[in-house]
Amino acid sequence: MPKWFEDGLNFTCTRCSNCCRHESGYVFLSKRDIERLADAFRLEAGEFIERYCKRVDLGITTRTSLREQENFDCVFFRDGRCSVYPVRPLQCRSYPFWPAVLENADNWSKEARHCPGINVGARHSGQTVLEWLDARANEQPATYELE
Ligand code: SF4
Ligand code: SF4
Repeated sequence: MPKWFEDGLNFTCTRCSNCCRHESGYVFLSKRDIERLADAFRLEAGEFIERYCKRVDLGITTRTSLREQENFDCVFFRDGRCSVYPVRPLQCRSYPFWPAVLENADNWSKEARHCPGINVGARHSGQTVLEWLDARANEQPATYELE
Protein backbone atom coordinates (compact mmCIF):
# COMPACT_ATOMS: atom_id res chain seq x y z
CA MET A 1 0.00 0.00 0.00
CA PRO A 2 1.37 3.48 -0.83
CA LYS A 3 2.78 4.95 2.38
CA TRP A 4 1.13 8.30 2.00
CA PHE A 5 -2.41 6.99 2.58
CA GLU A 6 -1.79 3.88 4.69
CA ASP A 7 -3.24 5.66 7.74
CA GLY A 8 -6.40 6.47 5.83
CA LEU A 9 -7.92 9.56 4.28
CA ASN A 10 -10.73 11.88 5.30
CA PHE A 11 -13.67 12.45 3.01
CA THR A 12 -17.37 13.14 3.38
CA CYS A 13 -19.40 14.40 0.45
CA THR A 14 -21.04 17.74 1.26
CA ARG A 15 -23.44 17.28 -1.68
CA CYS A 16 -22.24 20.57 -3.15
CA SER A 17 -22.78 18.97 -6.60
CA ASN A 18 -19.64 20.57 -8.14
CA CYS A 19 -18.68 17.27 -9.68
CA CYS A 20 -22.09 16.66 -11.30
CA ARG A 21 -22.60 19.87 -13.23
CA HIS A 22 -21.37 22.99 -15.02
CA GLU A 23 -18.39 21.35 -16.74
CA SER A 24 -18.16 19.01 -19.67
CA GLY A 25 -16.63 15.65 -18.76
CA TYR A 26 -17.12 11.93 -18.85
CA VAL A 27 -18.94 9.57 -16.55
CA PHE A 28 -17.70 6.29 -17.99
CA LEU A 29 -19.97 3.33 -17.39
CA SER A 30 -19.20 -0.30 -16.66
CA LYS A 31 -21.40 -3.11 -17.91
CA ARG A 32 -22.74 -3.55 -14.38
CA ASP A 33 -23.54 0.21 -14.17
CA ILE A 34 -25.63 -0.05 -17.32
CA GLU A 35 -27.47 -3.11 -16.02
CA ARG A 36 -28.32 -1.41 -12.72
CA LEU A 37 -29.36 1.88 -14.29
CA ALA A 38 -31.39 0.23 -17.06
CA ASP A 39 -33.17 -1.92 -14.44
CA ALA A 40 -34.00 1.16 -12.40
CA PHE A 41 -35.63 2.73 -15.47
CA ARG A 42 -37.19 -0.61 -16.52
CA LEU A 43 -35.45 -0.36 -19.87
CA GLU A 44 -33.45 -2.76 -21.97
CA ALA A 45 -29.72 -1.92 -21.91
CA GLY A 46 -29.82 -0.78 -25.54
CA GLU A 47 -32.75 1.56 -24.93
CA PHE A 48 -31.04 3.01 -21.88
CA ILE A 49 -27.88 3.69 -23.88
CA GLU A 50 -29.84 5.31 -26.68
CA ARG A 51 -31.60 7.68 -24.30
CA TYR A 52 -28.94 8.56 -21.76
CA CYS A 53 -25.49 7.73 -23.12
CA LYS A 54 -22.94 8.93 -25.63
CA ARG A 55 -20.10 7.21 -27.42
CA VAL A 56 -16.58 8.37 -26.57
CA ASP A 57 -13.82 7.51 -29.01
CA LEU A 58 -10.56 6.95 -27.13
CA GLY A 59 -8.57 5.81 -30.16
CA ILE A 60 -7.81 2.22 -29.16
CA THR A 61 -11.34 1.67 -27.84
CA THR A 62 -14.69 3.37 -27.45
CA ARG A 63 -16.33 3.87 -24.09
CA THR A 64 -19.88 4.58 -23.04
CA SER A 65 -20.40 7.73 -21.00
CA LEU A 66 -23.48 9.45 -19.61
CA ARG A 67 -24.76 12.32 -21.71
CA GLU A 68 -24.80 15.91 -20.53
CA GLN A 69 -27.54 18.48 -20.58
CA GLU A 70 -27.11 21.67 -22.63
CA ASN A 71 -25.61 23.47 -19.64
CA PHE A 72 -23.12 20.58 -19.15
CA ASP A 73 -24.93 19.23 -16.08
CA CYS A 74 -24.99 15.43 -15.99
CA VAL A 75 -28.09 14.02 -17.66
CA PHE A 76 -29.18 12.74 -14.23
CA PHE A 77 -28.61 15.96 -12.30
CA ARG A 78 -32.20 17.09 -11.62
CA ASP A 79 -33.76 19.47 -9.07
CA GLY A 80 -30.42 20.17 -7.42
CA ARG A 81 -29.39 16.57 -6.88
CA CYS A 82 -28.44 13.25 -8.45
CA SER A 83 -31.73 11.65 -9.47
CA VAL A 84 -30.18 8.16 -9.62
CA TYR A 85 -28.14 8.36 -6.40
CA PRO A 86 -28.82 4.77 -5.14
CA VAL A 87 -27.75 3.30 -8.48
CA ARG A 88 -25.19 5.90 -9.56
CA PRO A 89 -22.22 4.61 -11.57
CA LEU A 90 -19.12 3.21 -9.89
CA GLN A 91 -17.12 6.18 -11.18
CA CYS A 92 -19.34 8.46 -9.07
CA ARG A 93 -19.52 6.14 -6.04
CA SER A 94 -15.76 5.66 -5.89
CA TYR A 95 -14.88 9.36 -6.02
CA PRO A 96 -12.44 10.71 -4.83
CA PHE A 97 -10.63 7.38 -4.49
CA TRP A 98 -9.58 7.33 -8.15
CA PRO A 99 -6.18 6.10 -9.38
CA ALA A 100 -5.04 9.49 -10.71
CA VAL A 101 -6.13 11.32 -7.54
CA LEU A 102 -4.40 8.76 -5.31
CA GLU A 103 -1.18 8.66 -7.28
CA ASN A 104 0.49 10.87 -4.69
CA ALA A 105 -0.31 13.24 -1.83
CA ASP A 106 0.15 16.24 -4.09
CA ASN A 107 -2.59 15.10 -6.46
CA TRP A 108 -4.89 14.49 -3.49
CA SER A 109 -4.27 18.03 -2.20
CA LYS A 110 -4.86 19.52 -5.66
CA GLU A 111 -8.15 17.63 -5.97
CA ALA A 112 -9.27 19.11 -2.65
CA ARG A 113 -9.39 22.53 -4.37
CA HIS A 114 -12.32 21.27 -6.43
CA CYS A 115 -14.05 19.11 -3.82
CA PRO A 116 -14.94 20.53 -0.38
CA GLY A 117 -15.49 17.00 0.96
CA ILE A 118 -11.82 16.04 0.69
CA ASN A 119 -9.85 16.15 3.95
CA VAL A 120 -12.97 16.63 6.07
CA GLY A 121 -15.46 14.30 7.74
CA ALA A 122 -15.22 10.53 7.96
CA ARG A 123 -11.92 8.69 8.02
CA HIS A 124 -11.58 5.95 5.40
CA SER A 125 -8.93 3.36 6.22
CA GLY A 126 -6.08 2.66 3.83
CA GLN A 127 -7.67 -0.75 3.23
CA THR A 128 -11.00 0.82 2.25
CA VAL A 129 -9.23 3.17 -0.14
CA LEU A 130 -7.46 0.18 -1.71
CA GLU A 131 -10.80 -1.62 -2.07
CA TRP A 132 -12.17 1.31 -4.11
CA LEU A 133 -9.09 1.19 -6.34
CA ASP A 134 -9.61 -2.55 -6.81
CA ALA A 135 -13.29 -2.07 -7.65
CA ARG A 136 -12.36 0.40 -10.39
CA ALA A 137 -9.55 -1.83 -11.68
CA ASN A 138 -11.86 -4.82 -11.87
CA GLU A 139 -14.88 -3.18 -13.47
CA GLN A 140 -15.72 -4.33 -16.97
CA PRO A 141 -15.85 -1.21 -19.10
CA ALA A 142 -18.86 -0.82 -21.34
CA THR A 143 -17.59 -0.36 -24.86
CA TYR A 144 -20.23 1.28 -27.00
CA GLU A 145 -20.40 -1.37 -29.72
CA LEU A 146 -20.98 -4.28 -27.36
CA GLU A 147 -24.24 -3.00 -25.92
S1 SF4 B 1 -17.40 17.95 -5.36
FE1 SF4 B 1 -17.00 16.61 -3.60
S2 SF4 B 1 -18.34 17.36 -1.97
FE2 SF4 B 1 -19.12 18.20 -3.91
S3 SF4 B 1 -20.68 16.70 -4.60
FE3 SF4 B 1 -18.74 16.13 -5.57
S4 SF4 B 1 -17.85 14.61 -4.14
FE4 SF4 B 1 -19.45 15.71 -3.01
S1 SF4 C 1 -24.82 10.07 -12.10
FE1 SF4 C 1 -25.39 11.31 -10.36
S2 SF4 C 1 -23.53 11.39 -9.08
FE2 SF4 C 1 -22.91 10.74 -11.15
S3 SF4 C 1 -22.35 12.65 -12.23
FE3 SF4 C 1 -24.51 12.19 -12.71
S4 SF4 C 1 -25.68 13.37 -11.21
FE4 SF4 C 1 -23.57 13.23 -10.43
